[in-house]
Amino acid sequence: MEPLHEPTADPAAEEPVVDPGGSESWQLYANCLGVDPDLFFPERGASTREAKQVCQGCVVREECLEYALANGEKFGIWGGLSERERRRIRRARALARAAQQSQTA
Ligand code: SF4
Repeated sequence: MEPLHEPTADPAAEEPVVDPGGSESWQLYANCLGVDPDLFFPERGASTREAKQVCQGCVVREECLEYALANGEKFGIWGGLSERERRRIRRARALARAAQQSQTA
């Protein structure tokens, strides 16, 4: 299977949820299989519209997004979201976790 995205994980990122041994079976159902991977890694300032359109109808969008979040993927479009959009989710989740911890402390 052709890789969907080049791994760009930050070594300091959280432990991957997905087993690197190959349990990412969701990738078999990806809409982007066979699509030019460059589309998902546009140059800075270039449009992400085409990639996001491919993601729009993807049945494994959620799995893809969670994979990217769990593995600290910093570049490219994953789960239909850009780096900036994923950063927002990570921040929001971190804030929610902190709020939850302060309530239980
Ligand atoms: S959500 Fe987009 S990048 Fe992720 S598997 Fe589906 S088509 Fe590919």
